[in-house]
Amino acid sequence: MCGIIGYIGKRNAVPVLLYGLQRLEYRGYDSAGIAVVDNENGKILIEKQVGKIKDLQEHLWGRNINGHLGLGHTRWATHGSPTVENAHPHISQGGKFAIVHNGIIENYMELKKYLQEKGYKFKSETDTEVIAHLLEDEYNGNLLDTALKVAKKLEGAYAVGIISTEEPDKIIAIKKGSPLIIGLGKEENFIASDIPAVLEYTKDFIVLEDGEVALITEDNVEVYNLEGQKVQKKPLHVTWDVSVAEKGGYKHFMQKEIHEQPRTIGDTLAGFSSSKNEELFDMLKDINRLYIIACGTSFHAGLVGKFWIEKFARIPVEVDYASEYRYRDRIIDEKTAVLGISQSGETADTRFALLDAKKEGAKTIGLVNVVGSSLSRESDYVLYTYCGPEIGVAATKTFTAQLVTLLLFALEAGLKRETISKEEYDKIHEALLHIPSKVEEILKKDDEIKDIAYKYMNATDFLFLGRNINYPIALEGALKLKEISYIHAEGYPAGEMKHGPIALIDEKLPVVSVIPKDRFYEKMFSNVQEVKARKGKVISVATQDDEKIKELSEDVIYIPQTEDILYPILTVIPLQMLSYHIATLLGKDVDQPRNLAKTVTVE
Ligand code: GLU
Repeated sequence: MCGIIGYIGKRNAVPVLLYGLQRLEYRGYDSAGIAVVDNENGKILIEKQVGKIKDLQEHLWGRNINGHLGLGHTRWATHGSPTVENAHPHISQGGKFAIVHNGIIENYMELKKYLQEKGYKFKSETDTEVIAHLLEDEYNGNLLDTALKVAKKLEGAYAVGIISTEEPDKIIAIKKGSPLIIGLGKEENFIASDIPAVLEYTKDFIVLEDGEVALITEDNVEVYNLEGQKVQKKPLHVTWDVSVAEKGGYKHFMQKEIHEQPRTIGDTLAGFSSSKNEELFDMLKDINRLYIIACGTSFHAGLVGKFWIEKFARIPVEVDYASEYRYRDRIIDEKTAVLGISQSGETADTRFALLDAKKEGAKTIGLVNVVGSSLSRESDYVLYTYCGPEIGVAATKTFTAQLVTLLLFALEAGLKRETISKEEYDKIHEALLHIPSKVEEILKKDDEIKDIAYKYMNATDFLFLGRNINYPIALEGALKLKEISYIHAEGYPAGEMKHGPIALIDEKLPVVSVIPKDRFYEKMFSNVQEVKARKGKVISVATQDDEKIKELSEDVIYIPQTEDILYPILTVIPLQMLSYHIATLLGKDVDQPRNLAKTVTVE
């Protein structure tokens, strides 16, 4: 995981690196560091700190460090605990090569042994440090050449930035498996793990592909493959604004992103319609099995998608955790499609599982938020959510946008496969257009939901219940709460409760019931009654005007009425808000919860 930033140009690199690291902090935040080639003595100066970027900033406060070339890194440890020694950048024994790395070097043990036998002393427990010493060991007077040689020795997934005192007019960037982009400026260039990190300085980018190495100077960028042959790259221009990546008056990114949902849902609806993917839907005509693979919140979106796709397109769907799917004996033939869902498009588990399925002959579809991301390039077909950058680690706006996309996907496929009528299609489409304003109404209940959060914030466990298409929403509600408040929570299909979890219910347990007025209402109502009979504290998410549910509930959060099958897009919103308020009332860092990172680029 982690974030990488690099700068070469006329400015002092230090503030550029720190600014970029702040933008990248969501990717990892257990320690951070920078390396610059000091303008005064030409040596590499490294400063690192355990903790957040602000700790590194404080550490550097008042120090007059100047250099036109530098690298920065915010770490999410995989090998070795978060200490100053293990923080990046890492430097070679002789002090001439500094590097930052995102990913895992799988053969680092062998390489370390080889280097130790040659007399190299290691200062850290990371897999990364081998790269720095290998560069020194292999250096032949040409940094690009040496980097290519070293890259060939590395196994695993990685993005690497390299600087050297031997050639202090360049940065080398290597990408294999982890994301890396190059920001193109005027008499200055940048490298970064993602676009928002350098959006302040440029809107023009080169997105590196796996197996590419870039030679970057102040006024030129050349890209090569691992064989050293030049590759022509077409720059990408983005129209995002820096403010999109800022909090815009909200206390946290997560809060801002929850409140952006009327817009992001609307944009996703519009984006889907304007980018009609005819070839994709033609392909779906002949498909007889669809696997959806994803992780975390995207997995829950996939579970909801299954209901829609089976209902409207009549394609049998299996939803799997990508990390499990990759290693099971799945059944794939030419009529099988695999849909991978990943906000960043960089989730290693999802990418690799999708690539494996592709090799076995499946048609592959990526559903991503980040344009140009690995998954989008590796899939045969791509669908986008139109959310702009999501910074809060707990996914919110991208979840509802994924839902909208999956529903549109199901409807479109249904039309092509002639499994739904045009009237039905139009009816749901029409209802979908009203969803943004209904979400807006729910968001107005912020204070009310905060009061409910206040009542239950000290509970040690929560149970979330739902049925049918709202069962994945119970799972998502529980996941949100766990992620940001660290309260233990479980999501369950309400009908399954009596087969086990009912034993947990007592007067101390808050039970969130997702009970909209749909065709499962009565069944769900009976399940809530079972909770009540055992003195559980019921918090219901119900459809407005449902007076009956009040009899059973301590608290009710009302949502507007909609078509039965659209409820998940609404019922999830109060659950996001409830988790947000519980976590902030408990004083937790909702944007950067402990142990988590936004983009999980390791297996
Ligand atoms: N494997 C490296 C480490 O543990 C990099 C991890 C990351 O991508 O943050 O330091």
